Amino acid sequence: MKRQASHRQSKASTSALRGLLRVSFRPVSRRTPIDEVVSQIAEAVWVGELRQGDRLPAERSFAETLDVSRPTLRLAFRRLEEAGVLEVSRGRGGGARIRSQVVPLALLGALPEVTRAEISGLLEARRAIEPRVAQLAALHATEEDLDHLAALVEHQRKAPPDWSLHGQLDAHFHLELARATHNSTLFVVMRELLLRLAVARSSLLRSPHDAKTLANIHETTLRAVAGGDPNAVERAMNEHLGWLERVWERESGRPRMRGVPEFLLPAPVKAAAMPGSGQNRRRTSA
Ligand SMILES: [Zn+2]
Repeated sequence: MKRQASHRQSKASTSALRGLLRVSFRPVSRRTPIDEVVSQIAEAVWVGELRQGDRLPAERSFAETLDVSRPTLRLAFRRLEEAGVLEVSRGRGGGARIRSQVVPLALLGALPEVTRAEISGLLEARRAIEPRVAQLAALHATEEDLDHLAALVEHQRKAPPDWSLHGQLDAHFHLELARATHNSTLFVVMRELLLRLAVARSSLLRSPHDAKTLANIHETTLRAVAGGDPNAVERAMNEHLGWLERVWERESGRPRMRGVPEFLLPAPVKAAAMPGSGQNRRRTSA
């Protein structure tokens, strides 16, 4: 007990000291109502809640919902229009529609800072979380979720070779996978992870990676999720994340990757110990 108390005391004084030395304060945000409206719409597009072609509510009712003036809303629309996200037509039958699902990250508001040294931790966090997310999606995804994921892979295959578009489509695939768990906490965790990854990708990844390979990997992942076998899902995710790790090692000059511990990899023993674990599934893949 005594040892524990003194340990606690020294820990407390160290953290107070650390607090003084290590907290990096930032300038207070001076966001205007226009910034707020822009980031709310941009965020809804970025996470895939608003999709290309979707129409926003009519100006008057939308301004009321957001509790801003109509001129503020118009200025926010203009900014989104200039960024290529919205298309606004005037007159009868007019209105604002989502023109593109590629959202410049700056529109999302305050972004997390990700340094080169942190990429390794980011990929490790993905290893710790995403295979479980995909397995839960395999258990809880509805037919509609699976159809939407399949449409995203198809879209990815046909998309022009624009790297920011492919980066965004990749984020959408993983966000939709997280949404298919029907667990809002996991969705928020994955959203933060993917946002950090998008920030890292936009600032640190020099050359685009192969869009075709990415679409193939997503297809394999989706097939495993639709099949409902947790071991197959884990193997597909392992392939997926391993590929991503190799891309980062190559592209970003090996950012001090610490190896993936064995317990974050699919264990062949586990596969042997859980035969037919997909049996309880209510649906099988085509
Ligand atoms: Zn992916």
